[in-house]
Amino acid sequence: MKDYEVVIGLECHVQLLTQSKLFSPAKNNYGDEPNTNVDVVDIALPGTLPVLNQKAVEFAIRLGLALGCEINHTSVFARKHYFYPDLPKGYQISQHDQPICGPGTLTFQTKDGPKSIGIERIHIEEDAGKNIHVEGGNSSFCDYNRAGTPLLEVVTRPDLRSAEDAMEAYKTLRALVTYLGICDGNLQEGSMRADANVSVRKPGAPLGTRTETKNLNSIKFLGQAVEFESRRQVLEIEAGHTIVQETRLWDSNRKESRALRSKEEAHDYRYFPDPDLLPLNVSADEIADIKASLPELPVQKLNRYQEQLGLGAYDASVLIAEKEMADYFEAALALNANAKTTANWIINEMQMSPQITPSQLGELVKLIDDRVISGTIAKTVFEDLLSNPASRPSDIVESKGLKMQRDSGALQQIIEQTCKQYESEVAKYKSGKTNIFGFLMGQVMKQTQGKADPVEATSLLKKYLDG
Ligand code: ADP
Ligand code: MG
Repeated sequence: MKDYEVVIGLECHVQLLTQSKLFSPAKNNYGDEPNTNVDVVDIALPGTLPVLNQKAVEFAIRLGLALGCEINHTSVFARKHYFYPDLPKGYQISQHDQPICGPGTLTFQTKDGPKSIGIERIHIEEDAGKNIHVEGGNSSFCDYNRAGTPLLEVVTRPDLRSAEDAMEAYKTLRALVTYLGICDGNLQEGSMRADANVSVRKPGAPLGTRTETKNLNSIKFLGQAVEFESRRQVLEIEAGHTIVQETRLWDSNRKESRALRSKEEAHDYRYFPDPDLLPLNVSADEIADIKASLPELPVQKLNRYQEQLGLGAYDASVLIAEKEMADYFEAALALNANAKTTANWIINEMQMSPQITPSQLGELVKLIDDRVISGTIAKTVFEDLLSNPASRPSDIVESKGLKMQRDSGALQQIIEQTCKQYESEVAKYKSGKTNIFGFLMGQVMKQTQGKADPVEATSLLKKYLDG
């Protein structure tokens, strides 16, 4: 493997969150009773005509703009012909040589810093239905609920060089489409599906022959499939065989892929412009309107969290990785002014405990920030919230008497007592071994059950020892 370079290009299918289908008014909804979301267009009854869903076009342009793609003012729908029972028309309506979006760039984070790969194109197409094969039975069924569902196909340049990078790039695309609100990103339900084109070569050599592995419905499977396929190709080449361009199918149970069919060529599909659909024209004004409506994108959030909120690169990248997480963070931060502490709690302390609401967390951090409680006591309050999810942090602090003690007279007394008890440690401190201060502080805090204001306690103890 060491002598070879892996080359990967992805074809990513993104299922759009439109109300209705790409060319019919039937509902676009996952998980309904089979064949209930079906219109005459979806099952290709003779004489029916497709009507393009404007929202799907808007969503395609949104993604194109977010990836810095050229948006083509004119694009063309084409018929892609093949036979399969889940495709009643005998062709899929897709875009071929004139897609809606041209070249762009996808940037993703890696442990070696950000990397960018080319996007070749994005086109709009319809999905097929679903064949259901009953295990052990001798019949199959067709469910046409998915037939005509709007998809975007995002095709990357062959710019990826490892399974890890392929997974990161795909994760980043997933985050992007959820931020844009055009796809729910639910991989388990097939809302996104990737095909991995893989080849290997000696560094510097021209691109090798590629295979395309289909059926990758999780980020983990994508990584495993790329690993498997690159290893298989290297072994083939080392054994003196040549790589055959073919389509392969990933079997997630056996963690291997097998050849499905030799690669079909574009001319096999007899592509031609769909005479039922006019060329799609979008004006510069329409594109500008969509651009103006884009939300803050993950990369913009990443920069803002670092530059304006002062978070470190790592914390910022963790928070923006999922829209849900960023939304949570911002909702909690709306209740206090301490981005670092809020981020720290979300990333390190709570591991996204779903029962704690952003408003509870926001309030908890505000209590720390206002020095009503210490960070240590906050952990006690948090434990309490976990077992009483309906309660408010401030009520817990009140009812359990967890407020920091600010009575300096009482604190002074405790400090004096503690220093008498640990005479020899105090002597060491005075002889210059000042790192024993931490131990003495710990004892003072222990005496107050952690409730003393640590800032005040530190200053009083210092004064007492040094004075
Ligand atoms: P098709 O439509 O026949 O699948 P495309 O030209 O659209 O062919 O390419 C599909 C994908 O294959 C793209 O993501 C591209 O980056 C990738 N690709 C092309 N050549 C190679 C190669 N030699 N190795 C790996 N990936 C490749
Ligand atoms: Mg392809």
